[in-house]
Amino acid sequence: MTVIETSGLTKEYGSLTAVDDLDLTVDDGEVFGFLGPNGAGKSTTINMLLDFTRPTAGSATVLGHDAQADADAISPCVGVLPEGFDVYPRLSGRRHIEFAAKTKGADDDPAEILERVGLDPDDAERPAGDFSKGMRQRLATGMALVGDPDLLIMDEPSTGLDSHGIREMQALVRNEAERGTTVFFSSHILEHVEAVCDRVGVLNDGELVAIDTIDGLREDLGGGATMTVSLANAAERAREHVTPLEGVADVAASGRTLECTITDPGAKATVVTELVDSGATIRDLRIEEVSLESLFTALTNGEGAADGADAGSGTTDGTVPGTETGVAR
Ligand code: ATP
Repeated sequence: MTVIETSGLTKEYGSLTAVDDLDLTVDDGEVFGFLGPNGAGKSTTINMLLDFTRPTAGSATVLGHDAQADADAISPCVGVLPEGFDVYPRLSGRRHIEFAAKTKGADDDPAEILERVGLDPDDAERPAGDFSKGMRQRLATGMALVGDPDLLIMDEPSTGLDSHGIREMQALVRNEAERGTTVFFSSHILEHVEAVCDRVGVLNDGELVAIDTIDGLREDLGGGATMTVSLANAAERAREHVTPLEGVADVAASGRTLECTITDPGAKATVVTELVDSGATIRDLRIEEVSLESLFTALTNGEGAADGADAGSGTTDGTVPGTETGVAR
């Protein structure tokens, strides 16, 4: 089943087109990463899905209902973690969940929800104003999970989290996905979604500029991995063996080092097998994946991964060939 479908969805604010002719489909059970730099139109899209704002043109359906005409049928089935949500400082964690349950008319057990989002019973009784940023985000996610939604929409849930908080958030998303919840996860940092998303859509200046798996994006942009092999002997003979292999390009030999670009992930193992079969002795092996940051930057005209410190390259040293680096499909 299609959980989210937009067709020509457009929102104009005066002369500014915040969302431009967006065609998007998110399937049941998917974790979908909605990526784009600040101001790309992510929140505006989410607001149209939730009928918080009306489109200038086009349409959207959520869980099979028209987002505008049937908004009342949609809202009980959707959990939302809004961008920039903060807690009520004096209310305990438990009271937040109880408040959400009352508002939604749901009868969830607060203790069960708090456990699901990783808040222990002692913390649950403390004022949420004392919570760390990561705990606040977990509590906000817990509130969104009240009523057992079929679709969880998270608008920039990783903002302000440190790397530990981001890993916690990713684990939470994976957990909910395993329970069968479809997750729509917006972020301006590709690295924050790549570990959990089945597919990503990249928005730039309101336009969808790419939609694919992370591996698919890498391939589309010609971003292969660089494989560097240190050999016991001169690399020239090895170069002759590796050059004809499929999925391998730009093979270069320098002294005892062989370097090539892997355009098909399966070719990593083939290169090693070919080298071993040809009698070469491999001393060391390094595979450097194209950095996610550079992919995103290429798609968003240099605006991607504004928080550069958060984005790094997927470099693996001495990995078993063919092993992917943290890319989830
Ligand atoms: P961010 O993460 O920074 O919120 P975003 O991708 O969610 O970025 P939006 O908030 O959807 O982007 O904003 C898209 C564009 O629409 C921006 O240029 C923003 O200034 C503009 N915009 C959003 N809401 C309004 C509004 N109510 N009136 C006028 N312009 C708006």
